Formats: sequence, C-alpha cells, structure tokens
Amino acid sequence: MTLKLAPVLSRAWDEQDSYTLEGYRRREGYTAIRKALTEMTPDEVIGEVKESGLRGRGGGGFPTGVKWSFIPQGDGKPHYFVVNADESEPGTCKDIPTMLANPHELIEGIVIGSYAIRSHQAFIYVRGEVTHVARRLLAAVREAYAAGFLGKDILGSGFDLDLTVHVGAGAYICGEETALLDSLEGRRGQPRNRPPFPAVEGLYASPTVVNNVESVASVPSILRNGKDWFRTFGSEKSPGFGFFSLSGHVTRPGQYEAGLGVTLRELLDLAGGIRHGHRLKFWTPGGSSTPLFTDEHLDVPLDFENVASAGSILGTRALQVFDETTCVVRAALRWTEFYAHESCGKCTPCREGTYWLVQAYRRLEAGQGDEAELEKLLDICDNINGRAFCALGDGAVSPIVSSIKYFRDEYLEHLRQGGCPFDPSRTTVWA
Ligand code: NAD
Repeated sequence: MTLKLAPVLSRAWDEQDSYTLEGYRRREGYTAIRKALTEMTPDEVIGEVKESGLRGRGGGGFPTGVKWSFIPQGDGKPHYFVVNADESEPGTCKDIPTMLANPHELIEGIVIGSYAIRSHQAFIYVRGEVTHVARRLLAAVREAYAAGFLGKDILGSGFDLDLTVHVGAGAYICGEETALLDSLEGRRGQPRNRPPFPAVEGLYASPTVVNNVESVASVPSILRNGKDWFRTFGSEKSPGFGFFSLSGHVTRPGQYEAGLGVTLRELLDLAGGIRHGHRLKFWTPGGSSTPLFTDEHLDVPLDFENVASAGSILGTRALQVFDETTCVVRAALRWTEFYAHESCGKCTPCREGTYWLVQAYRRLEAGQGDEAELEKLLDICDNINGRAFCALGDGAVSPIVSSIKYFRDEYLEHLRQGGCPFDPSRTTVWA
C-alpha cells in the first residue's frame, strides 16, 4: 500500500532554523504575498481560495473562501482578521507545532487573508499556557515588520496591516470563536449567540473573519502553487492536505501530514502500528468531542463526508488511539471531567449537565448502582445535546453516547463486578 504523504506545512520541520525569516525565505517564503498584493485584487484572492475548496481546519470545516466572501465591502466599518490559536481540544496538537516550527507561513497567510477581506488589523489569539509559542510568534512578527511584510505600505502595494499577538488566559471555552472575541475585547470569555456570525458582527461589532491556524497557514501554498495543485490532494468535497495527529497506543505517535481521505489503517502502517503485542480497541477521529470509532472503522476515509457517513465528525483530525488494555468507561469519564471543568457556566444544560454527568460516571466506574444508572447517563446526554449555548455541550456528550453504543457490555461489567474490571489492583481482569 502506498500512501501519499503531503509534507507542505511540515516540509521544513527538521531544519534547525525553520522558524526564522531566513529559513522561511529559503523555501519560497513570502512569495505568495508579493503575488497577492501586487498582481491580484482582493476579490481574486478570495476567488482563488474559494475555488481551492479549502475548508476550515479548526474542526468545523466551513469553506474558508466562502467565509471571507461574507465580509461586506464598502460598509464603512473596520474589518478584523483573527487567528484562532487557542488549540485545546483533548488530543489536538497540530497548531502549536505549526506555530513553533513555521510561524512565518502563518503570518504570510494572515497578510493575504487580511488583504482579501480589506482588514488593516489582525490578531493571533494564542492560548495562555504556551508562553514559548507566544514568544516564538512575537519574534517572528518582529522579523516580519522589520522586513516590510507587516506595517505600512507592504511591498510598496499601498496595503497596511498591523498584527497583534494576544495571549489568552488558558480557558478552553475561548477557543469557541465568539468567546474568543469577547476575551479579545477584554471581557470574560463566554460564547455569544450565533447568528449573527462573526463575519457579520464580530470583534467590536464589526465584520470579522476567525480562522484556525492550520487553515490560514495553508493559504500561501495555495497562492504559490494554485488551486488545482491543492485539489490534487484529498477528495472532491474535502480537498487538500492536513495534519493527522496520532497519539496514544501507537508505536510512533506524531504528526502525519497527508491528503484528506487517508485511513487510520494507512496512517498506522506509517506509524508502526498499535504498540507491540496489542490491538486497537477504540479511537477518536477528531479529538474527544467527536463520537468514538472502533476497529470497524479502520478503513473509513478520513474526510468530512465519509467520517460523517460513518457516524462521527472529522473535527481536528486528532486521532487518539487506545488498545484493549484501556477501560473505555474510565477514558470517557476523564474526558467528561475535562468538559465539566471547562464549561463556562453560561448555559444551564452545559453547566449543570456536565456536573451531573461526572457524578453519574464516577458511580458507574466504581461499579455502584444498576443499569438504570446507564439510562440516567444517556438521559442527561439527551438533555444537553443540541440544547447548550455552544458546541461544548454537544462535544461533551459525543464520547459518552458513542462509547455506550459500542461498549455497553463493558459498562455493565463494571456494575456486575462492583468496580472497574481494568483496575490492576483487582484480581479479576475482564477483557
Ligand atoms: P461551526 O460549524 O458552527 O462553524 C464553523 C465556522 O463557520 C465558524 O467560523 C462560523 O462562524 C462559520 N459559519 C458557520 N455557518 C456560518 C454562516 N451561516 N455564516 C457565516 N459564517 C458561518 O463550528 P464551531 O461551533 O465554530 O466549532 C465546532 C468545531 O470546533 C467542532 O467541530 C470541533 O471539532 C472543533 N473544536 C476545535 C477545538 C480546537 O482545539 N481546535 C476545540 C473544540 C472544538
């Protein structure tokens, strides 16, 4: 089996100075902004990105060029370009290495995107815990200003752009785009009602594009090589390449950049398979907020359509892989504790519901109660799903409902044994 890896964003990650301006320029860095700013109109740039078919890489998969085209023109309002660098979904770990190893490709994408939507102020909102990433971004921004790729009259085109790196305070909810905007405005980060979407009313109530790091960093290569080149990767409705972040019980975990539509089986071939002597039990196709898959799904093409048809969501392509030694109940409990801790508290279904879920889960994991406990868990999920203010609530219930669907008997075994069958301190091990 031959798998077409696509090292585009990661093509220079092994180079010592990949993150410097000089390193980036050696690999055609900042040639795409010259093309965009001096040879293309903003609408032509939007057209190229639209026709490339690039879809948001932050999880939602909304077409990037279409989002840019929503920004009204001639409205007399300032427009803002905001990069969502608040990566914090469990298992998701692609934007942080991108910013560390390749910050200039992100900055070049920001200049191109800002030019396209006629914005003169851009922001990178980076999560608070990763100060090393913030430092790397700030150094790259300084280099870009000094070289004339940011600031006034970029490359003599007459286009001005300022870029601010804003460090958040480490709240998962601030990755939700409207909570991010509240936080950027200096308020407590909590989601806003949508619609209006940020493209209509975003930062300071002005039209705003919020794009994920990987989406924006993919833009320079599209302008350099063309939309048709981009479409040579992936499938018709999910074109291009992306990171597949393998973690967990894998021989060689890491970032695998490949065309969308690759399968877990193909990725495992590259990653040396499941760790020696073990077998796949379950995995997340797109981080912990996406319904779990099992070994039945090894050959599902990992693109937006096929993953949805198989009952999950492509999300952030964070493939957390678990072998048969893992208790699925305990794994789902750990994720649920995360969501309960990170619930912002704005809406009742999420604030109260995730708390109740944790209580019910802890009882189940300890083998207390009876089958009604499992039904209670599903009932709480039902009352959160689709009823929470933002995607956090739906995300929290995804691993629970799917794990019960595939591993109901394992839940019941906890009740039968009066405790976790995987607990090494117990004499009976159930598998
Ligand atoms: P969404 O599908 O509601 O929206 C995606 C994007 O499209 C947003 O920018 C939104 O403004 C835009 N959009 C959608 N419809 C629009 C319209 N009619 N007009 C204008 N713009 C429109 O998804 P979401 O709620 O923003 O995010 C959910 C996703 O985030 C999940 O799929 C999950 O995988 C992902 N996620 C990622 C992380 C991370 O760390 N990267 C963390 C949590 C969740």
